[in-house]
Amino acid sequence: MTKHIFVTGGVVSSLGKGLTAASIGCLLENAGLNVRMQKLDPYINVDPGTMNPYQHGEVYVLDDGSEMDLDLGHYERFTNAPLTADCNYTTGKIYSAVISKERAGEYLGQTVQVIPHITDEIKAAIDKLSAPDVDVVITEIGGTVGDIESLPFLEAIRQYSLEQPKGDCLFVHLTLLVYLTASGELKTKPTQQSVGRLREIGIQPDILICRTEKPMTEAMARKISLFCNVRPEAVIEEQDVAHTIYELPLMLKAQGLPKLIGEGLNLQLGDPDVSAWERIVDTVIGTTKEVEIAVAGKYIELHDAYKSIYEAMAHAGIANGVRIKLRKLSSDDITPENASKLLSGVDGILVPGGFGGRGIEGKVAAVQFARENGVPYLGLCYGLQMAVIEYARNVCGLEGASSMEIDPETAHPVICLLDEQQRITDKGGTMRLGAQTTKLTAGRARDAYGTEHITERHRHRYEFNNAYREQLGAAGMAFTGIDSDKDLVEIVEVPGHPWFVAVQYHPEFKSKPTASHPLFREFVKASRAFADGTLGADGEKSNAPEHAPHGEGR
Ligand code: GLN
Repeated sequence: MTKHIFVTGGVVSSLGKGLTAASIGCLLENAGLNVRMQKLDPYINVDPGTMNPYQHGEVYVLDDGSEMDLDLGHYERFTNAPLTADCNYTTGKIYSAVISKERAGEYLGQTVQVIPHITDEIKAAIDKLSAPDVDVVITEIGGTVGDIESLPFLEAIRQYSLEQPKGDCLFVHLTLLVYLTASGELKTKPTQQSVGRLREIGIQPDILICRTEKPMTEAMARKISLFCNVRPEAVIEEQDVAHTIYELPLMLKAQGLPKLIGEGLNLQLGDPDVSAWERIVDTVIGTTKEVEIAVAGKYIELHDAYKSIYEAMAHAGIANGVRIKLRKLSSDDITPENASKLLSGVDGILVPGGFGGRGIEGKVAAVQFARENGVPYLGLCYGLQMAVIEYARNVCGLEGASSMEIDPETAHPVICLLDEQQRITDKGGTMRLGAQTTKLTAGRARDAYGTEHITERHRHRYEFNNAYREQLGAAGMAFTGIDSDKDLVEIVEVPGHPWFVAVQYHPEFKSKPTASHPLFREFVKASRAFADGTLGADGEKSNAPEHAPHGEGR
């Protein structure tokens, strides 16, 4: 029988419910259980794919091509739970399923209502992850308790737990202890009220996880216990992490969370083996050497917009024993004139994915600086397209070369719409999405992967225009990764440059703290060598002088 943990959040949004749910998954997996992770989001978009990153942060893509909430990235980084389209439901996805059934006449003349039809659909979504070999499904409810739009989800999980055998469901509520700087006090009232809202709708949390800036005293835990009807030992503290988010499973283990969950769900839990996570944290704490990487993107002021990229970079830092210092540059601000000033002293340059025309000239200028100065470059998706545009314009002399996404009238459409996209007009879920296989030929990328065939996740409508392959190739650009089925360029490199790799896919979605993605790992390794002055045209030199000046003369 699969057991269920429901994670809700109170007081404020952005408390880190996703990280907490992922850490619970991590602890249970390391205690020997088979875990599944799921997120229920109250907004009405069918998926986040059509949302602006300012609204929602990055769109996380799965192998099966689903466009998902970024919390699923935490689930994949902290656990090995396989993720599919069934792992993220929104109000929109639930309602469209119900409305399709209604149109098909499946409700046999009934009035279709929130209770029971919408709540039944939500419960069916939760049940999709139950299976004989699955021990625990962890379902995180997006939004904050008290929001109007999350009510059907909370109602559904209340009903769900009532319908399961006693002891098969556990409610974990994440809340905030508010710290008043003026009086130097932690306050529990917002927590009491948020638990009150949950109890009003019939959910009694079993475990309260209290986010807090300052240590929670025992007296305070007792008070929360009394007012919230939660056993005192089940009121646990989650202080802000000091060094890295990967401390969280360790912190929750130290607070006795696995034992509480084991007791709550009647599970025989071993002691979670968190040694791999201890090593990660020790490496992060013990690392002093810094490597500075510039990220030139359009949504740079919003950390969540490039969440998986920053995480993948942190993983590569752990793998290389360096601390990554990010120089976040808005591509709107970069021009060919100021690029050398804005990028001076960086050890690597990354251009992330993106859409539309804003900021693209800044990205092209950043690519040019990287290419001309031998600074390691990693281009992701739009970052490949910008690298191609830059090469076409500045090396092949194709003036005004561009992407048809930006300039449909361009004289040199070096990036053009994928054939399969020609007749598509709907925006939701219609890009080239998910896992595709690429065949690699000799180059930095193949060296990094150490294999000939790779599978990576895609999310795009435009591609390298094969009509220009010969011309760019003759000018030196190397096409070192081609889709295994279609003749699509997936990787470009600039031979002769110490480390210049751009890919049409999103490797950031497949990096883990325990297993850095090979491209990020090698990019950061090259950046470290660049910082040390040991990066030559053939890669890292063993006998190069140490501490050569940053990029000068390269
Ligand atoms: N806008 C580009 C395309 O659709 C790149 C997409 C991306 O960076 N994810 O092809």
